[in-house]
Amino acid sequence: MAINWYPGHMHKAQKEIKQALPGVDLIIEVVDARIPFSSANPVIADLSQTKGLNKPIIKVINKTDLADPTITQLWCDYLDQQQGVKALPVTANKPEQVKKIIALCRKLAPHRVEKELPVRAMIMGIPNVGKSTIINILSGRTIAKVGNEPAVTQRQQRIDLDEGVTLFDTPGILWPKIENSHSSYRLAITGAIKDTALDYDDIAFYAMDYLSESYQAALQEKFGLTELGQDALASLEAIGRKRGCLKAGGRVDLDKVCKILIHEYRNAGLGTISLETPAMIEKELIELAEKIRLKEEKKAARKKNFKKKKR
Ligand code: GDP
Repeated sequence: MAINWYPGHMHKAQKEIKQALPGVDLIIEVVDARIPFSSANPVIADLSQTKGLNKPIIKVINKTDLADPTITQLWCDYLDQQQGVKALPVTANKPEQVKKIIALCRKLAPHRVEKELPVRAMIMGIPNVGKSTIINILSGRTIAKVGNEPAVTQRQQRIDLDEGVTLFDTPGILWPKIENSHSSYRLAITGAIKDTALDYDDIAFYAMDYLSESYQAALQEKFGLTELGQDALASLEAIGRKRGCLKAGGRVDLDKVCKILIHEYRNAGLGTISLETPAMIEKELIELAEKIRLKEEKKAARKKNFKKKKR
């Protein structure tokens, strides 16, 4: 699925964050518990490799109410193993969980706490992960606009919390950089990508393939199916017949079924379902690295050939 991710915006955000990082003690990155890898921002990973800029990162794994609890635990263990990273699973439905961010900020910056100085935390996240909701919970008031649709504008903000922590809201929008094609599908399924940029059929087929393999029972129960079809198309047609999505002549209205499946997923109609595990991501990253290597090889060979011909 081809998606234009505005690389210009990406560079701008990276530059702004790079400038602001020396002035903060840590980073709070909000991600979506259903896709903790795909909703993470690579700008942060890239910057954390930069000498002098690497700050402790609190990975706030938000929307755990929508994710598979076993897989959320796997993600927490996986992320906690990474250097300088502390995972914190939360749901904005339970503000007391979100407020744990404050104690963790203080724990990760003892040098500031000892001197009775506020801990400076930069909060960031790609659109729709729940960053605004979390800022509002932490500050106890409505500071950031919360919306169902990925945000369009945002401004830089400094928010002094009572508990000795100052939040710096990230300037600009952090778009996810998608090199892994699976990630673009997963972002689309969760609604992180604006619906107008989507082809529902494409993402529903992807979702069906994954769900039939990993959450077969939930699918069958939701749609009252005794068994799934042989492939994604057959399963979607079976759902269509169950839901009465028929066109003239009795053919299943696939467009309609695809929308139903995606909306059911987004509204947690299928239960708590995660779309990726650490093991899946590790495997995909190896495949991706191989793909990039082959592409580079091809490019180099083409260049060599071109030079030869020129001579
Ligand atoms: P932002 O773009 O990252 O600032 O995201 P928002 O705070 O605007 O949230 C995007 C959508 O996700 C809104 O509809 C929120 O109500 C919803 N949301 C935020 N946190 C949670 C959560 O923990 N669970 C669920 N189910 N929805 C959430």
